[in-house]
Amino acid sequence: MLKRRHYHIDDIEYCVLCTTQEEETIDHLIFSCQFSQHCWAKIGISYNTNNSRIEATIRAKEKISSSHLFEIFTIAAWNIWKERNNYIFNLINPTHNSWIERTKADLNWLGYRVPTDLSDYITSIVNNL
Ligand SMILES: [Zn+2]
Repeated sequence: MLKRRHYHIDDIEYCVLCTTQEEETIDHLIFSCQFSQHCWAKIGISYNTNNSRIEATIRAKEKISSSHLFEIFTIAAWNIWKERNNYIFNLINPTHNSWIERTKADLNWLGYRVPTDLSDYITSIVNNL
């Protein structure tokens, strides 16, 4: 975001979720980072990082036939972002267990807002995390 707004940034900001020394871009952080890939796998989504972000999302949607894929995606991505921010602002190392607990809590809240059949589906995702 800072680069897009032409702020001067001295050093490349590296991803804090992995040890690959990859530049922290949205594509890396949310889709191709080893940490994120592990998170996506936990909820049954695998992103082919050779595809464009849109193509990868379309392929992911084929695997999760839920009308609430967008909400599930948003919760998972939001919690990846929170793991990153927890390190940046609080120096707390990101862990998959922390991501799982945050994601479970948010998915449980989502489960209260959807019809019973979807609630059951969301509960099954939570139970498999
Ligand atoms: Zn990374």
